[in-house]
Amino acid sequence: MHAPVTQDVHTIPRKLPESGRTNLIGLTRPALRAALVEIGIPEKQAKMRTGQLWQWIYHWGVRDFAAMTNLSKDIRARLAESFTLDLPELVTRQVSEDGTRKYLVRIAGGHEVEVVYIPEEGRGTLCVSSQVGCTLTCSFCHTGTQKLVRNLTAGEIVGQVMLARDDLGEWPEPGVGTGEAGPRLLSNIVLMGMGEPLYNFENVRDAMKIAMDGEGIALGRRRITLSTSGVVPEIARTAQEIGCLLAVSFHATTDATRDILVPINKRWNIETLLAALREYPKATNSERITFEYVMLDGVNDSDADAHRLVELLEGIPAKVNLIPFNEWPGAPYKRSSNNRIRAFATILMQAGYASPIRTPRGEDIMAACGQLKSATERQRKSRAQIAAETGL
Ligand code: SF4
Repeated sequence: MHAPVTQDVHTIPRKLPESGRTNLIGLTRPALRAALVEIGIPEKQAKMRTGQLWQWIYHWGVRDFAAMTNLSKDIRARLAESFTLDLPELVTRQVSEDGTRKYLVRIAGGHEVEVVYIPEEGRGTLCVSSQVGCTLTCSFCHTGTQKLVRNLTAGEIVGQVMLARDDLGEWPEPGVGTGEAGPRLLSNIVLMGMGEPLYNFENVRDAMKIAMDGEGIALGRRRITLSTSGVVPEIARTAQEIGCLLAVSFHATTDATRDILVPINKRWNIETLLAALREYPKATNSERITFEYVMLDGVNDSDADAHRLVELLEGIPAKVNLIPFNEWPGAPYKRSSNNRIRAFATILMQAGYASPIRTPRGEDIMAACGQLKSATERQRKSRAQIAAETGL
C-alpha cells in the first residue's frame, strides 16, 4: 500500500471565466435554451441546439466549443464569444492509502471546498459539498467550526461531479458507443460534504437534476442521496422537486442531547422532524430513509439510546448508518469502542433495522465523514442574512 499522494496542480493552466461571458455549466435546460436565443439562435432551432450542447457537455464531457462538430462553425464561434464552460479549479488532489480521493477545489471569489471520492467494489461514491462552510454548528462536525461563507451555485455543485469524472477518466469517447461500458467508477452521489443542502435548495435541485438527466451524466435518482440535518420545511419539497433518496443527520435520541450535537434541533425538534419523515412521500421499504448516527463515546451510544432509537423509528421505512466518530483537531468527542458500536448495532438489528457500521475511509487525508474543512474562513454571513435569503 503506498503512502498518501498529494499532487499540486497549479502547473496545469485552467481557463478562468473572463468577465461578461456566462458559464453554461449548471444552467437548467430552459435557462440554456434562453441563453442560446439571447445570442441569436433562432427560437425554432433552440430546442435542438440545447439538446446537442447538453450531450457534448454532460454526456461526452467536452468543454471546448470548437470540438462540437455537429454544430456549424458559425454557431461554435458565437458560443465561444458569449459563453464559457468552466468547472471549479482543482487546487489539490490527495489519494489515501485506501484509494479514497480528496479534491480541494476553488470557486469564484477564491473560496475553497472539499470533495471526496470513495471507491468500492463495483461502485464509487462522490461526496459533494453544497456550501462554503456551514450555517449550522453541529458539535461533532469539523465543517461546523467553519462559518458559512456562501452557497455554491448549481454549476459549482455539478462541477464537482464533472471534475471527478475528469480525474477518473470516466467520460465516454465522443461519438464512440454509449460510454456505458461496464460498472461506473462514479456511480453514486451523496450530498454529505460541506454545508446543509436544504439551506441551498434551488442550486442543489438544479445541479442534481442535471446529474440525473438521461441525455447527460444520467445518474438514476436512487443513486443520489441528500443528507439533511433536519430543515423540516424543505423535506417534502425534496421528494417533490428532486426525488432522490433522503438521509438525516440524526445522531441522538433525546432533544437534550440533539440540541447540542445538531443545534437545528432547537428549531425543529425530534418529534417535529420525525413527523415530517413519516410524511416523506418517497419513503418505501425499497427506498428507506437513512438515519445517520455518529457513535460518540459516552454521549449517545448506550443501550438505552439504541432502544429509544428503535421506538422513535416506529412506522418509518428506515435504516441506520452507524458512523464511528472520526476525530479532527480540537474535537470535543471520542469514538465509541468497537464493542459498544457492535452492541448498539445488535439492538437495532434485533429490532429489524439494517444498521451497517460505516468503515471510515480516507482518514489519513482527513477525508472521512465530518472531517472536511477548507482554509477559506474569511467572511461570514449573519444568521439574520441567511434567514432573509432563505426565508427559513
Ligand atoms: S453535519 Fe452538516 S449541517 Fe452539521 S455542521 Fe456539519 S456540514 Fe453543517
